[in-house]
Amino acid sequence: MNMLISNIQRFCLRDGKGIRTTVFFMGCPLRCFWCSNPENFKSEIIKYNKNGTEKTFGKIYTEDELFCEIMKDKDFYENGGGVTFSGGECLLFLKGHTNLLEKLKQNGVSICVETCLNVPSENIQKVKNYIDEFFIDLKVFTDKAKQINCEPNKVISNLKLLKDKNAITTFRLPLVKGFNDDKDNLGIIKNIIHKFNPNCVEIFSVMNLGKEKYQSLGLKVPDLKKFSPSEMENIKTFLDYENLVINKF
Ligand code: SF4
Repeated sequence: MNMLISNIQRFCLRDGKGIRTTVFFMGCPLRCFWCSNPENFKSEIIKYNKNGTEKTFGKIYTEDELFCEIMKDKDFYENGGGVTFSGGECLLFLKGHTNLLEKLKQNGVSICVETCLNVPSENIQKVKNYIDEFFIDLKVFTDKAKQINCEPNKVISNLKLLKDKNAITTFRLPLVKGFNDDKDNLGIIKNIIHKFNPNCVEIFSVMNLGKEKYQSLGLKVPDLKKFSPSEMENIKTFLDYENLVINKF
């Protein structure tokens, strides 16, 4: 089975330990209106026009081709670096590619995933033992979850699957003003953090990062308001977790 990838970004420093090669899968179950990679909503090649030139998002890779692309950066993985699978939602697809994961492990490449965990539990069961590090987005656990197709119960039951796994886990909270910053949602997230005890929690104010992409794709550009430093500090205090940092993505 082949994979549809929108981008392979090299020398990434924020997607796990060491230097990472980040692979972006196309296709996601959610529709976060603040998403900075809207080209990855659907698992299909997209053609668009930029200044009169036709461009494409998306390229199909076989497992061998993707393995070779990742291994081009092998010399930079020495200090714990490796590959980070992102998206879109990489865990929709990786269960069909355990051969690739196995081959990466055999070659000493650390594997990290960035996920919203809004996937069938079998997708997690199938790949979790290959993964060294998880970045898990916690977005919304109130009724508003429907607005972005998120299923909070699915996310929580998948978190339970990872609880005893010996992997580094970071929870990431993308804060969207007026959407998921209410006390109800933050209260639920606080409980989740304290119950699952991740290695680290990162909170950040979402920004209009994908403006050009939204325009290219003919989508409405989101109008996002940033949190002030003091508002971020208040949320940090409310969540009250020792290993919590405010990120300025
Ligand atoms: S889960 Fe991530 S990739 Fe998917 S829509 Fe939300 S922000 Fe975008």
